[in-house]
Amino acid sequence: MTTALDLGPLVATLGGVFGLLIGSFLNVVVYRVPAHVSIVSPPSACPRCNHPIRGYDNVPVLSWLVLRGRCRDCGAPISSRYPLVELATGLLFVVVALRFWPATTAGDRVLAAHVVLLLAFLYLMAISVALALIDVDTHTLPNAITYPSSVVLAVLLAGASALSGDWAAFVRGVIGAAALGVLYLVLAIAVPGGMGLGDVKLAGILGLALAYLGWGPLAVGAFGAFLVGGIFALVLVAARRAKWRGGIPFGPSMLTGAWIGVLVGAPASHAYLHLIGLA
Ligand SMILES: [Zn+2]
Repeated sequence: MTTALDLGPLVATLGGVFGLLIGSFLNVVVYRVPAHVSIVSPPSACPRCNHPIRGYDNVPVLSWLVLRGRCRDCGAPISSRYPLVELATGLLFVVVALRFWPATTAGDRVLAAHVVLLLAFLYLMAISVALALIDVDTHTLPNAITYPSSVVLAVLLAGASALSGDWAAFVRGVIGAAALGVLYLVLAIAVPGGMGLGDVKLAGILGLALAYLGWGPLAVGAFGAFLVGGIFALVLVAARRAKWRGGIPFGPSMLTGAWIGVLVGAPASHAYLHLIGLA
């Protein structure tokens, strides 16, 4: 137990560095996927002078600071959004690493199951950041991300169940995926112009991840999406931006709600059931 606690700072540091690097890659994904451009080639280049970005100018956050937000070749401004996305992804990976790091001294298979579960939720965080930004930018959740993501996540969670022997968690996840997917499908049909089919596919992915962790996280995550969405809409109305290109994307609210469910769903749902006398 003490060894697991001692590893906390190391886990947080590794998670943070990994997150910074993934954040740098997500900037490419967010820029290229909606434009239907390959995410691997050509290499990144300055959009103004087309000079390829040098390796040492591609260090997350630090390069932007050293270059003071300008292209080394032509001086074109580089948006502060790039280092902010890298920083945010780094911090969010620290949170996920600390939440899912196996603080266990149980056998190798249990440890391996925990590591696979950690990878599954780091992956979910990466696609969460990418999808939230793309939804804000373009009001779409591209199939190019949602389809492969649902497969990768299902494979990782099935792998965690195979290692831990806890297949009940995976079955619960599949039921959660179907339940949340159907809820959003009904909403998409009932309220035209509200939810889109991208939201339905994302609901399936989030339902899988949340219900894998438990019914409590699923309930908190599903409810959290509408709570966050309501607050987000009120803030936008107050800021007079409600007509923001004809609607408010719901993806970022779904993702934020889901992560509230992942991180605090179990204790929150237990406290609520205790409060109303059911637990
Ligand atoms: Zn340039």
